[in-house]
Amino acid sequence: MLQTLYNVPEYNEELIDLAIAKMMEALSIEKDLHPDCKVVIKPNLVMAKSPSFPATTHPLVIKSVAKWLAAHGIKDITLAESSGGLYNGEYMKNVYRVCGMQQLAPLVKLNMDFSAKTVNCPAGFQNHSFHIITPICEADYIINICKLKTHAMTGYSGGIKNLFGVIPGLEKPQMHYRFPNLEDFSRMLVELAETVKPDITIIDAIDAMEGNGPTGGNSHPLYLLLGSKDVYTQDYFAAGLMGLDPKEIMMLKLAVEQGLALPDDISLSGDAIPENLTPFQVPDTKKLDFTGSLPRFLQKPFAKLAGRLLKSYPQLRKELCVGCGKCAESCPAHIIDIRDKKAHFKRKGCISCFCCQEMCPMKAIFVKKAL
Ligand code: SF4
Ligand code: SF4
Repeated sequence: MLQTLYNVPEYNEELIDLAIAKMMEALSIEKDLHPDCKVVIKPNLVMAKSPSFPATTHPLVIKSVAKWLAAHGIKDITLAESSGGLYNGEYMKNVYRVCGMQQLAPLVKLNMDFSAKTVNCPAGFQNHSFHIITPICEADYIINICKLKTHAMTGYSGGIKNLFGVIPGLEKPQMHYRFPNLEDFSRMLVELAETVKPDITIIDAIDAMEGNGPTGGNSHPLYLLLGSKDVYTQDYFAAGLMGLDPKEIMMLKLAVEQGLALPDDISLSGDAIPENLTPFQVPDTKKLDFTGSLPRFLQKPFAKLAGRLLKSYPQLRKELCVGCGKCAESCPAHIIDIRDKKAHFKRKGCISCFCCQEMCPMKAIFVKKAL
């Protein structure tokens, strides 16, 4: 598997253009394309946040890719994403504006088709089908451009997790409700990636997020752009750069077991791995999870017991809550009410998915262990 890696010391258009041009050449992308290709770029626009905060894909990275495509004769380039929250024109226009996507015009069409299609999965999958936003279903070539982050539920968010944003709007919380267990949810993510099959995945890690990702963490720049045609192995590699143990990240463990990620078969191209990388802080949800350090035969029974005792729940910082209701809208268990302009959580029924924390624009939700 060919893994490219380039040092990019800041969000500077010329430097990014240079790195993207080298990446596309190293991965021989030109030969995969023809002028009539419908290319769809799938960014991470998890919520309406300024690009100066490392929650979303930086517009300059997308712009460089679009400029490279246009210079190679591609005319039909669409950016398509279903953020957390609603999936309609009004909601997405605001996301595009706040995330800086409007500067991509006229090179890139910002998707305004909010329909979705049912796509069948191969036999043997946990899911028989997925409901996927239409531009992704109709694309000839998919460029997955994600942000590198730690993640409260899955531990890690890169190329595989970014593809969860092809599920339309509030169907995403419903998927959390269908798969409340981390292993089942992670298997669903891997199956979704196998169904979408992005042609190339680029990881924006010039600035990345540590701690309570995907939206409530802090900046941890790596000054790197990564690119590969293999979304699974690249995620395994990138998790290692963050100082995480990829074997402890359920979706990566499953990808290895299924023969999709091949960590022993990485061939590096581009710049050298920087020597001064420091480990990322993990999310609060993962801080007390020490089952991985136990002998293997004790891990399963202990994980069950620990799962009950150490289960994490969302807790409100009342003084920060503005009563916007975004947490209630995204809660798959419907256990959040807005009263007197404040969110009120019931613990019963909580599946610890942290969609509420992810969608809170005020960082008003933190994680508390049951004990
Ligand atoms: S907790 Fe956050 S998302 Fe929920 S109502 Fe308060 S400010 Fe809005
Ligand atoms: S309260 Fe938050 S963590 Fe619990 S089910 Fe609802 S969204 Fe998920």
